Amino acid sequence: MTKRRSWAEPWKIKVVEPLKMTTRAEREAAIREAGYNTFLLRSADCYIDLLTDSGTSAMSDHQWAGMMLGDEAYAGSRNFYALEQAVRDHYGYEHLIPTHQGRGAEHILSQLLIKPGDYVPGNMYFTTTRLHQELAGGTFRDVILAEAHDPASEHPFKGDVDLAKLEALVAEVGAERIPYITIGVTVNMAGGQPVSMANLHEVSAYCRTQGIRVILDATRAVENAYFIQQREPGYRDQPVAQILRQLCDLSDGATMSGKKDSLVNIGGWLAVRDPQLAEQARNLVVVYEGLHTYGGMAGRDMEAMARGIVESVQDDHIRARIGQVQYLGYKLIDAGIAVVRPIGGHAVFLDATAILPHLPREQFPAQALAAALYVESGIRAMERGAVSAGRDPKTGESRYPRLELVRLTIPRRVYTQAHMDVTAESVMEIFDQRERVRGLGFVYEPEYLRFFQARFATVGGDGIFA
Ligand SMILES: *Cc1c(COP(=O)(O)O)cnc(C)c1O
Repeated sequence: MTKRRSWAEPWKIKVVEPLKMTTRAEREAAIREAGYNTFLLRSADCYIDLLTDSGTSAMSDHQWAGMMLGDEAYAGSRNFYALEQAVRDHYGYEHLIPTHQGRGAEHILSQLLIKPGDYVPGNMYFTTTRLHQELAGGTFRDVILAEAHDPASEHPFKGDVDLAKLEALVAEVGAERIPYITIGVTVNMAGGQPVSMANLHEVSAYCRTQGIRVILDATRAVENAYFIQQREPGYRDQPVAQILRQLCDLSDGATMSGKKDSLVNIGGWLAVRDPQLAEQARNLVVVYEGLHTYGGMAGRDMEAMARGIVESVQDDHIRARIGQVQYLGYKLIDAGIAVVRPIGGHAVFLDATAILPHLPREQFPAQALAAALYVESGIRAMERGAVSAGRDPKTGESRYPRLELVRLTIPRRVYTQAHMDVTAESVMEIFDQRERVRGLGFVYEPEYLRFFQARFATVGGDGIFA
């Protein structure tokens, strides 16, 4: 057993939302109806919903109180200025362009900075980020450390950029065809793995010499700052809020999904230091999102996010948030289940190729494992493997990333330790009958971000279990 000190959540529960239990027969019917895609299940049919940590947080009483202070003026809402101040204080960027969520910011940034034929390096891809880069005419290049692709590697900063890969790309295509590098802090697709401050220093210094902008995907930057505090020499005594500022200081701007770290149900932003780029972004945001003082959000949503940002950077909060994820992770490790190591910030990732070795990659083992877990327990997880990776836009071939994972994503401030116990027990029950899980094949495949809406049928018989 891994020895660890107990923690307790730095809050108590004021309002509860009842959960529904379903029968196995109901779940078998529901997953068939959903084409074996957990994204197509109704939430009412799910017991513990670990599909995503996106927009699923519980807001505090202070945030809910802020919702009543929504200033729904079309222009110049006071809640915008509160949000702008919170971003300046905690992320340090001068210019804030609000968007309806993270991908709205990615869209605007990609359209402004990428020309057809450009290359955009990143520390592993993210689904919406890469697609917006491709739609703008760019080509994504992965420059993450090799360790990130190995689920068993215990490297403490698997999100780090391999500088040699970045230099090789510059040598190959020329710095003038690389408008910026996107650095995910943390790296969702690698298992919620952090980037070290030392690595970001190095990358930032190198990019400055080449005239390449550094853009953070700051979606889970607070979680990244916590890992730096815990793992990187010299940061143990610094508050997470201070580390977050240092992290952002090494970049030229950021895209943000407020639905993750910032403890709100909707919202996002683009923030930059360059006043000219900010001007262009303010112009483009009106075309796609809304006026530059609301960007698709209601005033009350901006107020909730402003308050959520302040709560999100408190050491007590982030320790309990990541502590809960690690509690589940170590329970599974102790039970001998193959998971991505070290345990990441927002989720525990099951290694589906290790758990279901009898299924070939073409039968989407992670998609099948998520469907089987749902039928067994009512717990909803999601696939992060070949289905999520989609097809190469040039060759049309399916991409098979080395990682074929099922993500058990923990919403913030929503579930208790007992829910984590039930989750761990349910995964162990699936593990005991893993040989019975059938593979899946596409019956419908959407063109963009296929994992959201694809439909599947089981291979070799009816039902996810043989
Ligand atoms: C969720 C997410 C996004 C996209 O944000 P949305 O708010 O879902 O549009 C971008 N990057 C990362 C790492 C994410 O997790």
